[in-house]
Amino acid sequence: MIEQLKPCPFCGSEDIYETYSQEYALGTKNPEIFCNSCKAIFSIEDDSPYMNCEEDYAYRRVKTIEAWNRRSENERPDEWAQIGLEG
Ligand SMILES: [Zn+2]
Repeated sequence: MIEQLKPCPFCGSEDIYETYSQEYALGTKNPEIFCNSCKAIFSIEDDSPYMNCEEDYAYRRVKTIEAWNRRSENERPDEWAQIGLEG
């Protein structure tokens, strides 16, 4: 079961959304977590054991949320494979 998202590790906001980016060339979806307050975009680079797109997405979505929540609870910079900051 998917855990609830913890507050943004950067700004503490709870104005957080799950989203994804689509990689059309590969036919895959990459799960992302977006903070509407500080505009952080969080995703992980994590190989999944699934070749099927939907199973792959579900697996990496869980991993992304787990990594976000760990980051929210304590400082673990090495957990972050990609951080986008805009604005
Ligand atoms: Zn934030």
